[in-house]
Parts: sequence; C-alpha cells; structure tokens
Amino acid sequence: MFQIEFDNQDTVVGIDLGTTNSLIARMNLTKPEIIGGIVPSIVSLKADGEVIVGDPARQELIDHPERTVYSVKRLMGRGISDVQDELKLFPFHIAEGSESVIRLLLGEKTLTPSEVSALILRQLKKNAEAELGTPVTKAVITVPAYFNDAQRQATRDAGRIAGLEVLRLVNEPTAAALAYGLDKRREGVIAVYDLGGGTFDISILKLHDGIFEVLATNGDTHLGGDDIDNRLLKIALEDIQSEWGADISHSGGAVQTLRAAVIKAKEALSFAPSAKIDFAWNGKTYQREISRDLFEGLIRDIVDRTLGPCRDCIRDAKVTPEEIDEVVLVGGSTRIPLVRSAVEVLFRARPHTELNPDEVVALGAAVQAGILAGTVENQLLLDVTPLSLGIEIYGGVVSKIIHRNSTIPASAGETFTTGIDGQTNVLIHVVQGERELAKDCRSLARFDLKGIAPMPAGMARIEVRFLIDANGILNVTARDARTGLEQSMDVKPSYGLTDEQVEAMIEASIDHAEEDFQAAQLAGARVDADAILAATSKAQRNDAWLALSDEERKAVTDAINRLQLAYHSDDHNVIRSQIEHLNEATHSLAEQMMNTAVSSALKGTKVSEQPE
Ligand code: ADP
Ligand code: MG
Repeated sequence: MFQIEFDNQDTVVGIDLGTTNSLIARMNLTKPEIIGGIVPSIVSLKADGEVIVGDPARQELIDHPERTVYSVKRLMGRGISDVQDELKLFPFHIAEGSESVIRLLLGEKTLTPSEVSALILRQLKKNAEAELGTPVTKAVITVPAYFNDAQRQATRDAGRIAGLEVLRLVNEPTAAALAYGLDKRREGVIAVYDLGGGTFDISILKLHDGIFEVLATNGDTHLGGDDIDNRLLKIALEDIQSEWGADISHSGGAVQTLRAAVIKAKEALSFAPSAKIDFAWNGKTYQREISRDLFEGLIRDIVDRTLGPCRDCIRDAKVTPEEIDEVVLVGGSTRIPLVRSAVEVLFRARPHTELNPDEVVALGAAVQAGILAGTVENQLLLDVTPLSLGIEIYGGVVSKIIHRNSTIPASAGETFTTGIDGQTNVLIHVVQGERELAKDCRSLARFDLKGIAPMPAGMARIEVRFLIDANGILNVTARDARTGLEQSMDVKPSYGLTDEQVEAMIEASIDHAEEDFQAAQLAGARVDADAILAATSKAQRNDAWLALSDEERKAVTDAINRLQLAYHSDDHNVIRSQIEHLNEATHSLAEQMMNTAVSSALKGTKVSEQPE
C-alpha cells in the first residue's frame, strides 16, 4: 500500500538546493554520482522573459542587479518580519505588499522565493535530462535540519513548480552521513560540520536501529566563505588604492571581478602553500602573492567563530566529544586546512574528507533517492515521526495510535466504541504529543463521523486508522464498522513545529510523567464510573430490577450514591473502589438480565461524544 510506484526508466535524482550552490546527483548502479556540475544559486530574468541560472547569471549580477537574485534560500517559507536581518545584508528587491508571502522584484516581474528556487531546480533538471537522455520527474531534495515546516513546504512547492515530484525532503546532515554510508553502522553518534558560502551549520545525529535522529543543531546563518572572501577583498582594495592611487570600491563591476580573483586565490590556497591574486581592470593590473600563513592569520577568528556553536551543539545533544563516533565535513569552505584542523582539535577525531565536501549532500540525496526507488538495497526508511499521534477518547485521555519514533511510512489502527446510548455522531480529535491528556497535546484536526447507526453505549464499533505516507502526511480515517460509513482527512503533523518545539514537547512529557499518569488514571476511572452508572440506571428500568429483593435494590442504590459522591474525588483509587462496590451490588441484577449491552458497556474504550 505504501510502495511508491516507479516506471522502469524513471530516474529518481537527489538535489542539494543550496544557498550558494546547488547540485543534482543520481545513483549509478551502486554509487551516487554528480550529474553536470555545481550550479551557483543565482537567477536572472531578462526583460524578454529569458531565464539565466548559475554561472552565466554572475555577470548579470554585475550588469543587471535589479533583475538578478542570489541567496534566495534565506527567504524560503518566511514572512517579511522574519527576514529583516537578511534584508539589511543582502540586496533583495522586495515587491510592495509582501507580508505573509514575500515577493521578489526581478525587473518587471515579481516571483516568490519558491518560484525563484524552482528556476534553479528546473535548470538542474534540464542539465540532468540532457546528460541522461531520459526525463527526470522525481526527486529527493535536501533542506537544513533546522528548517521549520513552512520552509520545508516552500521547498516542496519549489519542486512542484519545477515539475518535480518531491518524494522526500531529507535533512542535509542526514544526507551527508548517508553519502559516507554511515547508516551501515546502524548505531552511533555523528557530528556534521557544514561551512558553506554564507552559512555555518553544525548538527549532531544519533543513528539507532538504522534511523537518523537529529539530536541538536546550531550554527550561524551569517558565517561562511563569503566572510573569508571579504577579508581578502579588503586587503586587495587597500593595495590597489595605494598602488594605483584609485579607489575602485565604488565600481560594482571592478569589485565583482576582483572578488572572483580573490576567491580563485582562496580556493587555490586550500591545496598550495601560496597563491596569487591576479586582477586586471581598465588596462591596469594588480598581483599579490598570499602565503598560507598570512591567509590563516587573516581568517583565524572566522574559523574560531564556528567553535562556540559546536560546543553548544554538543552540550544540547547531551553527548561528550568522546561519544561522537564520526565527524563529517560538508560545505566548500571545509576544504580549508585550518578549518579541518580546528574541527579535528575540537572533536578529537579525524573528520571524514574522502568525498568532495561541496558534493556530499547531493550524493547523499541520491542515495536516499535510490533507497526510495528500490534500487539501493536498504531496509532503512530513515525518517521517523518525532511525536506520537493519537486521538482523544472519552474523558479527555489520549489513545496513541502511532508512537513517537515510528519509522514512516507507517499505519496503525484501533477500534473504539461509543460512550452514550443512541450516539450517532463521534468527534474524532487528532492530537500529537507525549502527554496523557488531550488538552496537554497539540491539536491537529477535528472532524465528525456523523450518522453512525444508533446503538446502546459500548456496542458501536468505530475503526480509526492512521496512515503516514513517505512525506509525513497523516491520513486519518474513521469508519463505522456496522454501516461502512466513513470519513477521512489529511493532516500535516509537523506543520509549523520547530525542532525545539518538538524537543520541548518531549521534555514536558517526561517532566509531567507522574502527574499525567495520575490524571489519566483519574480520567479513566471517571469514564468507567460514567459507564457503570449509565448501565445501572438503564438496568433499573428493566423488568429484572423489579425481580430483585428489597435488600438487593437498596444495596444497588446505596452503591450508586457512594460512587456519585466519590466521583469528584481526585484520587482514582477512591473512585475505583466504589466502582468495585457497585459492580458487586449489581451482580445479581446483571445475572438476571440477559442484556449483554450492559456488561459490554462496563468495559471498552469510548470515543468522546460529539458535543452539540
Ligand atoms: P552552500 O552550501 O552555502 O550553497 P557550498 O558548500 O558549495 O555552499 O560552499 C561554497 C563556499 O565554499 C564558497 O564560499 C566557496 O568559495 C567555498 N569553497 C569552494 N571551494 C573551496 C576551496 N577549495 N577552498 C576554500 N573554499 C572553497
Ligand atoms: Mg550546503
């Protein structure tokens, strides 16, 4: 039922949709491989509608900044108030009236960040189709581990707009770990250090039973290779000022060209003890040899700024550096030897560097794509539900249907019954969380199952089924077993929840475990008291009641009174013992009656009544 269907010629690709650079990869037999090359995440729209993406758009950034955009990932799934910091640092042109959904001005046109990202995805898709000679329609796309649901949804939308069916979004650090085949260990703690162009992310993952769980994330959204470029750029501009007696910093074109020259030198310095900045402008030239020593002195504090978030992340993950089994380097800037040695010192382990750090996320996405397509043998499903999902039952108690950390896709069901005679509606209240009472969980959805066949309490059979598909969408179906009548709805359980909120919900359930247990016991006892009181009152209207002796009848009425008094006690034991008494007192009454409805009403879980 959960198998995704594939045509044989379908290639499922993996895509790293990055802030600075994007890449597409696929499984080639047993190995993931990059298709085409790195595509800078830059998009330019010409007046005639022509779209320019990647390297050719760099020139547009200089010539036509008003219709060219980069770093759009920073805006994905965010509102204007969320991105004030970004607007100060980046030359985004925001269209008037952008509030809940940001629209970017590219010349005459306005596009949402998802639409801009879709243009990058479309380019990647086109590159892959050209190289493979087959259509590419299905993809796994990676997102930062800290992306919230709106950001994830915006990424999914970008895929859809680009004509791709997004089979799964995968966390970037998880993809990196997959690229290194670390899932084969089945167990362990993995740190993923990702220093890209403009962002730094550190994630600590726990692998258990072949499932990656993000223990903690940290980082700095404004730290990366760009900062390093700026240091070199500053030196070069000062040199040029004194050598040429001219300040070129006001010429966008000159600065952009010089920037390209310093980046070239920076990248060469990762592999050579020294490199040359080589720049020519308006017939003049500037050259300067930069030694690695000078370079390292220049960037040491930038590298050091990554260490604080690493320490915080280790602390939040509640592990010690010794407990970290593997360290993976991701992001082009981790090619810098100083970065590598800083990571090695901090984590006291030699990091994985066998794969190209700017390709590793896309390669891992391709591995995940292969797993989903069934071409990579692996029983791993890799994603788990972070919180339990269930429904509210009579008494406000939660009946968990799919438990926290279940691998998805998943399905589970349970049968409930009604709590009131002749009940024809039930309210299905879907909740998420670890607490025992629905009021302490997150409410996801409510819907009514109307028109069920009226039955004595406890006789109806309401089957509730939960299905979570590979994308984490929950489908809830409630069905009256007698009439076959059913009602269902789709819910996105993770919508709008950040990792921190998930953590907080899990922690709250631990903190309140005892209290919740008592509350659930109390609610359960009251539900049982309601049931036995209702059944007894019904039995009193039965002929059997008259067949009892006076003493027997008195014993029953006394027991009813005592249970009604005990009902509001906050000790469930008090209620339970009175239920027991009433149970005994009604023994002969029950025997007299051959009405099974009574005894079945005394047990079983009930769906809460539909409030009018
Ligand atoms: P992102 O994930 O942010 O989209 P990448 O992982 O592709 O970006 O990293 C891009 C950054 O890596 C750029 O700042 C680029 O200059 C830098 N980079 C790439 N190669 C090297 C290298 N050899 N040495 C140092 N930095 C490099
Ligand atoms: Mg990246």
